[in-house]
Amino acid sequence: MSINVFPIKAFNDNYIWCLRNQTHCVVVDPGDAAPVLAYCQDNQLILSAILITHHHWDHTGGIDALLAAFPDIPVYGPQNKNIQQITHRLSDGDDIELALLGVKFSVLEVPGHTLDHIAYYGDTGLFCGDTLFSAGCGRLFEGTPDQMFHSLAKLTALPADTAVYCTHEYTMANIAFAEAVEPNNQKLTDYKNWANQQRERNNPTLPSNIEKEMAINPFLRCHSTELVTNVSHNLGATLTSEQATFAALRSWKDNF
Ligand code: ZN
Ligand code: FE
Repeated sequence: MSINVFPIKAFNDNYIWCLRNQTHCVVVDPGDAAPVLAYCQDNQLILSAILITHHHWDHTGGIDALLAAFPDIPVYGPQNKNIQQITHRLSDGDDIELALLGVKFSVLEVPGHTLDHIAYYGDTGLFCGDTLFSAGCGRLFEGTPDQMFHSLAKLTALPADTAVYCTHEYTMANIAFAEAVEPNNQKLTDYKNWANQQRERNNPTLPSNIEKEMAINPFLRCHSTELVTNVSHNLGATLTSEQATFAALRSWKDNF
């Protein structure tokens, strides 16, 4: 049986990614239970596990109601004890197998957006929560710019064709910032035209992939001469390392 991945929309701009076969499914970051329960009902699916990337409510708020409907299913997630419902606490390098779906993931610790943030990587793709977005990256609520820089480097080290499943549809707003930073990036312009069409048809811009993001995502392009020049100009200071450029870029975006 083959696996499909579907976005279940939640709140304003969240996607709860659902991995499914004909009979069973697994959801990543169910911030809200209602749309997941409706999806399971409509498609006659049994929820068999929950994957969590970090502690924010828009990623965890639906766990209790899902466990009430599907008792005793495993809940995978970070070490953070504050997410009490987690049954399998994961660390960097751990491997998990979702037996009913025949899906395996390796766990990557990716601190930055939060300190507990993890990502799941396997044949189906990368489920990266709020770490990497299309054309952007997560805000630094808990971690340092250096932590995020290294976390993103772990993700860009994955194979170029890895599908990237982010939790938010932030792409158009991210592109507006990316254009201010790298106005002459032709691949970014092409990507904007495509993303615009997707959104006009109410389609997701996700999943992305690693190769695409490395070509258009400013947070993965701190080596770009044009980007360094513009970030340095915005900061009013010379930038002497990719990490310093990343930190200045992140704080520019925070105030954009
Ligand atoms: Zn978050
Ligand atoms: Fe979020």
